[in-house]
Amino acid sequence: MERMKELCKILNKWAYEYYVLDAPTVSDREYDKLYDELRELERESGVVLKESPTRRVGGEPVKGFQKHTHISRLYSLDKAVTDDELSAFFTRTEKQGAKIYTVEYKYDGLTICLTYDKGAFVRATTRGDGRVGEDVTAQALTVKSFPLEISYQGTLEVRGEAVIRLSVLDKYNREHPEEQLKNARNAAAGAIRNLDPKVTALRKPEILFYDVNYMSEEPVMTQTGAMEFLKKEGFKTFPYFKVCQSREEVQAAVDEIEIGRKSLDVLTDGAVVKVDDERVRRTMGYTDKFPRWAIAFKFEAEEAETTVKDVVWQIGRTGKLTPLAHVEPVELAGATVQKATLNNFGDLTKKGIKLGARVLIRRSNEVIPEILGAIGGGEGEVPVLRPVTCPACGSPVKEVGANLFCTNDACPPRVVQRLTHYCSKNAADIGGLSENTLTLLYEKLNVRRFSDLYLLTEEALSGLEGFKDKKINNLLGEIEKSKQMPLDNFLYAIGIDGIGRVAARDLARFGSVEAVAKLSFEELCALENVGEVTANAILRFFSDPQNQEELERLFALGVSPKAKEKKTGSFSGETVVLTGSLSIPRGDAQKLIEEAGGVCGSSVTGKTTLVVAGESAGSKLKKAQELGIPILSEEELFQRLGK
Ligand SMILES: [Zn+2]
Repeated sequence: MERMKELCKILNKWAYEYYVLDAPTVSDREYDKLYDELRELERESGVVLKESPTRRVGGEPVKGFQKHTHISRLYSLDKAVTDDELSAFFTRTEKQGAKIYTVEYKYDGLTICLTYDKGAFVRATTRGDGRVGEDVTAQALTVKSFPLEISYQGTLEVRGEAVIRLSVLDKYNREHPEEQLKNARNAAAGAIRNLDPKVTALRKPEILFYDVNYMSEEPVMTQTGAMEFLKKEGFKTFPYFKVCQSREEVQAAVDEIEIGRKSLDVLTDGAVVKVDDERVRRTMGYTDKFPRWAIAFKFEAEEAETTVKDVVWQIGRTGKLTPLAHVEPVELAGATVQKATLNNFGDLTKKGIKLGARVLIRRSNEVIPEILGAIGGGEGEVPVLRPVTCPACGSPVKEVGANLFCTNDACPPRVVQRLTHYCSKNAADIGGLSENTLTLLYEKLNVRRFSDLYLLTEEALSGLEGFKDKKINNLLGEIEKSKQMPLDNFLYAIGIDGIGRVAARDLARFGSVEAVAKLSFEELCALENVGEVTANAILRFFSDPQNQEELERLFALGVSPKAKEKKTGSFSGETVVLTGSLSIPRGDAQKLIEEAGGVCGSSVTGKTTLVVAGESAGSKLKKAQELGIPILSEEELFQRLGK
């Protein structure tokens, strides 16, 4: 028995070096020799130790998969495809105190959960629906990249992704011409969910571990800690794991993954961003499907390689200079692409974009594709010079972080961009006023301010080339109609820094522009989608005399944004904050409260009149108790809603 224990220990160490570390220290022959000795001892004694590597040969086929309920639910991840969605994730998590994020690859395989108890491997299950999975212990045992014995003595569930390396798949397909496996993802799922473990063994899946799902004792309190724990216990993890201190660092890591995955032997379809700190995670909780503290950034498949020919600078409504690259025409998602954007000057420098550089471009939801990075192989590359003056108006350029700004508020393209934004679909929605038309109005009719649009006359417009009676009538009609635009559209249209459509809707709940202009810093920050920077921008906007005058002018000309009719009901007059996890998604609960006349905030302030506390409510509940704010349970919430 002692010798058997000793043999298990040595063989498991060698297997770990070979399968997890990719650094074998002995030859196959030496391994086989001890392995045979162990097999012989097991046969003689009739005993197989629980940590014995002989358990890893596929057993007999099973009749069907047993169901298994996970100790702790395995959630899937909410996904983001656009930079805006990723940005919204940061706003939400930063408000809850997230400071550190982790970034890792998102593998495209089959999620597996392994259970350990008292230091021994007990069971492997698929994720299933997150609550109940299938027992695939016999199949998983053929995979050698996880330990049968660990030092942690409590009950543990760890999570990994079963994958088949592309090179392994290739080799398999060459050796089994009669049975071609089409893609690595389906091959991995098919291998693990095969009733015959010998088939699993033949396809050689491996498991890459990335999370701890449950720990009965001394749970790790960070994602970084979870990764360290997994490594220490001998699980195979993926070498790429970034700890980031800011949005910018996360964005850089996501870009890095997108470029890096091209040369990876494992199938990936995105990057996973997680809040590192468990305490923040607990405050944020879960929706009915996803954790609120993690997101999968999914890459679009639409990418192409091309060469940068030239870089020009575009000026936006804030004065920001955005590099626009002219590239060699290339086919991308069924269209010929000749232009691609970058975020800013810093982005351009960081990604090493030069004239003549070979680059990878991606088309996401934007009209113009984006340059992901240089891929090398360009010829005669020339650096792009940093503009010293604005290419449109010649004013000095100022550098703020990674951005360059034109310092002239009246810079012509800036003014036209502001007007274009004002007239856009989700703003004043004035059909017929495109960027080109507004440029014409700027040049010929001195249109500068939003209010100038409402002073346009038939006579003035008829002097413009291409403007016939019908077109003029339509346009004036559209302009007239826009006076009654919804309040959230108006708050978005006037172009306050950082106010997108979502935040504008938050603000519009206050019923009028005047009411919004009177909000305090604290009240603004209490809104779900307004952070401190945006709150300050709002305060700055409304205290600026020029903006005040312009608003007066607009109102005097008849612009009168319409607030949504205030709903009345059992929550009329209440400002409600939801905390903890509820049995329905938080967003749905907010909608119900709003339909019953209430207003929802995201943090507890002096204006909060009610707090709804779900399960494991944290700091917000405490604050509400300190302030003596009435607290409702979920049950009481539904009672009051009459549901
Ligand atoms: Zn300028």
